[in-house]
Amino acid sequence: MGAGDPRRAIPRTDALLAEPRLIEASARLGAGVVKSAIRASQQRARVGAIEPDTVLDDALASLPGSACAMTPVLNATGVVVHTNLGRAPLSGAAVEAITQAAGYVDVELDLATGVRARRGRDTLDALLAAVPAADDALVVNNGAAALVLVVTALAAGGREVIISRGELVEIGDGFRLPALIESTGARIREVGTTNRTHLADYADAIGPQTGCILKVHRSNFAQVGFVAEVDLPELATLGVPLVMDLGSGLLAPEPALPGEPDAETALAQGADLVTASGDKLLGGPQAGLLLGRGDLVHQLRRHPLARALRVDKLTLAALEATVRGPVPPVTRYLRADLDEVRTRTLRLAERVGLDDTCVVAVDGAVGGGAGAGVGLGGWALALASECAERLRLGRPAVLARTDKGRCLVDLRCVEPHDDDTLATALGAVLGGAPARGTD
Ligand SMILES: *Cc1c(COP(=O)(O)O)cnc(C)c1O
Repeated sequence: MGAGDPRRAIPRTDALLAEPRLIEASARLGAGVVKSAIRASQQRARVGAIEPDTVLDDALASLPGSACAMTPVLNATGVVVHTNLGRAPLSGAAVEAITQAAGYVDVELDLATGVRARRGRDTLDALLAAVPAADDALVVNNGAAALVLVVTALAAGGREVIISRGELVEIGDGFRLPALIESTGARIREVGTTNRTHLADYADAIGPQTGCILKVHRSNFAQVGFVAEVDLPELATLGVPLVMDLGSGLLAPEPALPGEPDAETALAQGADLVTASGDKLLGGPQAGLLLGRGDLVHQLRRHPLARALRVDKLTLAALEATVRGPVPPVTRYLRADLDEVRTRTLRLAERVGLDDTCVVAVDGAVGGGAGAGVGLGGWALALASECAERLRLGRPAVLARTDKGRCLVDLRCVEPHDDDTLATALGAVLGGAPARGTD
């Protein structure tokens, strides 16, 4: 490197690390993240992509916004429980609860006596208040964990889980309920046929080897036509533990989804235990809920596997705040006033220079293994299909729905206070170019 070599002007790492703005960034993001940004900027200067005297600014500009690389996304798909977007967005109350619980908390301590207390008791109390038909409750990692725990406790070691052939479902990403059940060492006793199962099919299968009857909600598909299934009150007459996998996680009936089962009703109809997810229709954090008969929940709580499936304090905090707190976003989006969505969509169209004919009627979807076959209805802004990628790659990232060669921007799951941000993102993508979708 000669004396006149511009590369000599590239600031040294230790000098950059002593810069107040980078010291502050190290405290916030970690020294490793800052050092890699510095090295990358120095390298850009070395190859002549930037001027040596801009290395500091370049490094600062390339720092991530936070120590976590997950990118927030505006959900413009209209799919309320979107698995790829982390299912339920949390309520403000749940977010606040997580922040409070992030430090030391009395999750397993009675402050009055100073001795150990039942872990997450306030969360369990909240669930029991919301589901009076349950004697007791337990929270594990997710719906699949809840099911594994129940089946292990009631039927591991070759005992049988009786299940209708119409309910041997795949829950997503290749995971199948029968495989999950068999992974516990329980045996599946299939009864009935794909489309029709009768009470006698269950009754004939019961014997000393029976561990439980499992009824599974068809959460991600619907059966129509020549079909028959046995409901809970009938199954409850058979005298063996009756478990209902609700999947979707409603604690009580939801008017916006009349066909969706809920924990309170299922227990009142004779289920001994129900299992459900916390982050589907309940609108809370990822969790598996177990509610029902006191002796069975006690048995599950004392099972060694329960310790391996237990949830952390953050989940307990967010779950309690979801159950006790204000209506969570998922519920608000399900109940969205469609006239209001349409008005917001028309305003958005106008702001980005599109006319009213770009606002089209769509079928909203619940998604995430819930409300299968239920059209929520709705409105969306129809754009040319190539807009979807540009919206996704923009910041903020916007995920739209692609449908029949169109990019549909649906405001159902976008908070009104994000409409401005969305308009800006859309404006950047459209850039004045004609980009309306065709039907
Ligand atoms: C979603 C679902 C599950 C799995 O729950 P996770 O929380 O995703 O583990 C199990 N059963 C049914 C019926 C479901 O819909």
